[in-house]
Amino acid sequence: MSKKTLLILPGDGIGPEVMTEVSRIIDWFNDRRGMEIEASEDLVGGAAYDVHGVPLADATMDRAQDVDAVLLGAVGGPKYDDLDFSVKPERGLLRLRKEMDLFANLRPAQCFDALADFSSLKPEVVAGLDIMIVRELTSGVYFGEPRGIFEEGNERVGINTQRYTESEIERVARAAFDLARKRNGKLCSMEKANVMESGILWREVVQAVHDADYPDIELSHMYADNGAMQLVRNPKQFDVIVTDNLFGDMLSDVAAMLTGSLGMLPSASLGAPMDNGRPKAMYEPVHGSAPDIAGQGKANPCACILSFAMALRYSFDEGAEADRLEAAVEKVLADGVRTPDLMQADGGKPATTTEMGDAVLAALDASL
Ligand code: NAD
Repeated sequence: MSKKTLLILPGDGIGPEVMTEVSRIIDWFNDRRGMEIEASEDLVGGAAYDVHGVPLADATMDRAQDVDAVLLGAVGGPKYDDLDFSVKPERGLLRLRKEMDLFANLRPAQCFDALADFSSLKPEVVAGLDIMIVRELTSGVYFGEPRGIFEEGNERVGINTQRYTESEIERVARAAFDLARKRNGKLCSMEKANVMESGILWREVVQAVHDADYPDIELSHMYADNGAMQLVRNPKQFDVIVTDNLFGDMLSDVAAMLTGSLGMLPSASLGAPMDNGRPKAMYEPVHGSAPDIAGQGKANPCACILSFAMALRYSFDEGAEADRLEAAVEKVLADGVRTPDLMQADGGKPATTTEMGDAVLAALDASL
C-alpha cells in the first residue's frame, strides 16, 4: 500500500478532544490494516493565534497544500470573540478553503437506524436515509460583484450578486456526477431556473455535462424551493443532490437536521485533482468548537470520526475501510453507547468522549 499524508488541525474547544479519538483510530488502521497513513499535526484558529498572532501560519498553509488530505477539528470560542475580524479563528478556516480552492462541499445526511427517533420527522421517513448534498462553495451570491450597501436617492440599498461562470458550474457538476457514479448512479440538480438566469445557465451546463460524459447517471432537475419541501416530505427519494452556494447552504442544513445531532455530521470539501489524481481535500465535522461543553469529556467524536471515514473514501481510495469504520460507528450506536447529545433526558449514564472512542475501536477489532 502506498503512503498517505494527512495534516491534522485540531483547532479549538472540543476540536482537540474529538481529534484525540480520531488519532487513536488512525493508529488502529496503521497497525491493524497496514495502512501507512503519515499524520502530522499543526495549529489553526485560536490555537494558532495564541502562538503566531494569526489564525493560520503561512507554514501551515504550505503544509496543507502538500498533503493528500487535511482533517480539521473546529475553530473559535468566546476567548477570541473580540479579536479584529482579520485574525478571527474562522479566518484560518476560510483561508484554507480559499487557497486550496475547495469548490465542492460534500455534506452527507445519513440516518443511523439507532438514532431514527432523534429526527424531528417520523422514524420511518428517515430510517436508513443516506443522501449526499454537493454544495458549490467558492462562487455564487456570497462572492459575486457588485455587492455592498449603497445610497440610492434618499434611502440605502443592499446589493448582492448571484454570478456563475460555465466553468464554475461544470467543475462542481463533474464532482457530483463522479460521486453519483460511486454511489447509486442518481443525481438531482437544484436551482431556480424559473426565476433566475444563473439558474437557467446552471441547468443547461449540468445537462450538457451529463449528456457528454455521464449518460449512465440518472439526472433530474428540481427547483430548489421544491427541493426543500421534498427533503422534508420524502428525503429517501434522493441520492446525490448538487446545488449552488446559497441554496446548498440552506438545503444541507435542512438535510443534516433530518438525522438528529450535530455531533454526528461529517463533511468534506474537495478541489481540483492534484498530480496524483486525487482531489485537494479538507475534511471536518459540521459542528463548531462547542465552548459550552469543551474540556468536560462530553463531546461526541463521531462527526470527526466519520469525517476521517470520508477521507479514507475520497482521498485515500480506501472505500472498503471507510465502510468498515462507518459500520463500527453504526454498531456502537446500535449497542446503545451514547454521548450526552444522543440521549433522551432519562437515558441512563452517558459515555464520555473517550468511552465513545473506546467503543468504536472495540467494534473495529470485532470487525476483523
Ligand atoms: P457549535 O456547533 O459549536 O455548538 C452548537 C451546540 O451543539 C452546542 O450546544 C454544542 O454543545 C453542541 N455540539 C456541537 N458539537 C457537538 C459534539 N461533537 N458533541 C456534542 N455536542 C455538540 O456552534 P456554536 O455554539 O454556534 O459555535 C461555537 C463556536 O464554534 C463559535 O466560536 C463559532 O464561531 C464556532 N464555529 C466553528 C465552526 C467550524 O470550526 N467549522 C462551525 C460552526 C461554529
